Amino acid sequence: MKSGATTLNLPDNIKIVRDEIPGLSCGDCKSHKVIQVVFIFIKSKFGDITSDPFLICASCASQNVGRNCPECGIFNRVKDDKRDEVYCKPCGLVLTRNKIIQY
Ligand SMILES: [Zn+2]
Ligand SMILES: [Zn+2]
Repeated sequence: MKSGATTLNLPDNIKIVRDEIPGLSCGDCKSHKVIQVVFIFIKSKFGDITSDPFLICASCASQNVGRNCPECGIFNRVKDDKRDEVYCKPCGLVLTRNKIIQY
């Protein structure tokens, strides 16, 4: 067993680039184990051709992950499609507006 490695059964074409990033949580299972991965398009001996890194939950593989709210410390975001913004459900803090600030 690899020490410190995340015990998520990832498909072969997903590679972990960063183990457990502090301050992030999963919006689905509320786990704090969020990892950064890349999707490998082509494996070659000269190096893999991969996607840009993205974040997933190491417990449930959800991509509904993000930074904990700076106000209340909880990750529970709600998207308001009418106003095109994402806000924190427990405290109401607006986290993104028009996709300029990305959390
Ligand atoms: Zn999760
Ligand atoms: Zn909040």
